[in-house]
Amino acid sequence: MALTGLDIYKLLPKTNCKKCGRPTCLAFAMQLAQKKASVEECPDISEASKQALGAASAPPIKLVTIGSNGRVLQIGEENVLFRHEEKFYHPPGIAVAISDNLTDKEFDSRLQKINGLHFQRVGTEISIDLVALTNQSGDKVKFAQAAQKLASGTKLATILISESPEAIGAALEHFAKRRPLLYGTNSKNYEPMAKLAKEKNCPLGVYATSLEELAELTEKIKALGVNELVIDYKGKGPKDVLHGLTKIRRCALKKNFRPLGFPTITFLEDEDHFQEIVQAATYVAKYAGIVVLKSYEPWQVMPLLTVRQNIYTDPQKPVQVQPKLYEVGQVTEDSPALFTTNFSLTYYSVEGEVESSRIPTYILAVNTEGTSVLTAYSGDKLNEKVVAKAMSAAQLEEKVKHKKLVIPGLVAVMSAKLREETGWDILVGPKEAAGLPSYLKTTWDKHGKKD
Ligand code: SF4
Repeated sequence: MALTGLDIYKLLPKTNCKKCGRPTCLAFAMQLAQKKASVEECPDISEASKQALGAASAPPIKLVTIGSNGRVLQIGEENVLFRHEEKFYHPPGIAVAISDNLTDKEFDSRLQKINGLHFQRVGTEISIDLVALTNQSGDKVKFAQAAQKLASGTKLATILISESPEAIGAALEHFAKRRPLLYGTNSKNYEPMAKLAKEKNCPLGVYATSLEELAELTEKIKALGVNELVIDYKGKGPKDVLHGLTKIRRCALKKNFRPLGFPTITFLEDEDHFQEIVQAATYVAKYAGIVVLKSYEPWQVMPLLTVRQNIYTDPQKPVQVQPKLYEVGQVTEDSPALFTTNFSLTYYSVEGEVESSRIPTYILAVNTEGTSVLTAYSGDKLNEKVVAKAMSAAQLEEKVKHKKLVIPGLVAVMSAKLREETGWDILVGPKEAAGLPSYLKTTWDKHGKKD
């Protein structure tokens, strides 16, 4: 059972000396209970208390690192069941499987596709994190050969999947320094697998068909000296898997149940690509540490990466673009000028539509602390003074000669005051970014350019 703030407080010196940077010992205790502080920050704590708190204050879900140098994936160390309670810290890894049973030509072409699974969305690169090599052939020589090709053919972090310790050992010869996840450990092979993981300092993927068996297995493996584990509950279908993933997270966070305090891995088995991605999105939401896909086409993978990007943004910190004047296309002094807010999603929606109109345009991203147009307006973060200040900071007057500004249709009500504040003509644009291409081609063309 996790210690409460008061339990922890009883173990502290209670001098309120502030050396830890907190105003009182109680404040420090509360932060310790929420895993927002470390015992080491109190220099006066006794050894006995440190030991008592050490285990209790360790993260309820172990942090596991896969890969080294180039592409590294860290999963685990989550503190909450629901994102709005705080935030989720480590986005689950998205892995794509590749079989050692493919011909050389098929393997190379599949790997090329897998390496290309990265995209730009709302100003951020989103990509898969891992490639998972499966020992479908059952042959350790073939597996090692495929591992060799994989090691030289990708920078992605790797999962080596086989139930054979010999096959994993042979493949590891090519991955010694890259710290792959070794997956395929069960109640029959855990001893040699743990030995390999310990020798090569690699994390270990463990599976079982019941949570009880899984918990027993992790304890046995920990006793052999391997602590970085990724656990896989093999449920009977998506509903059962989701249930298992939720139970694992609840046991770890609410009961501080250490045998299940590890990040999870889940394999997608559905042959239908749409079903596969829908199920994977469900597991990304609750509570997979890694999902392993069979799909490898961009149209299949990108929706899942988008879901992950949306879930793993900090709800208390809106994603923002730099507030400044952006030039889309080869702008001139006759180009339209419009403003929007610096909320990423809003800005990139506007930019995408302007780009598709093929009309070079200035977009002024006004600083509204990353909030959308209506939210900013209703919170008084967007008003005529804020826009006028942004226009002047961006020296918009020197960029265009027409002195006309297109404003979002949602804040048409600002027109008169903005006109008064800036002396510019204010044109009311469409309410939705999707209306911009036709607005720029028709209304701007008629009223903006020629007036
Ligand atoms: Fe209390 Fe230790 Fe912080 Fe001092 S440093 S206020 S004793 S918790």
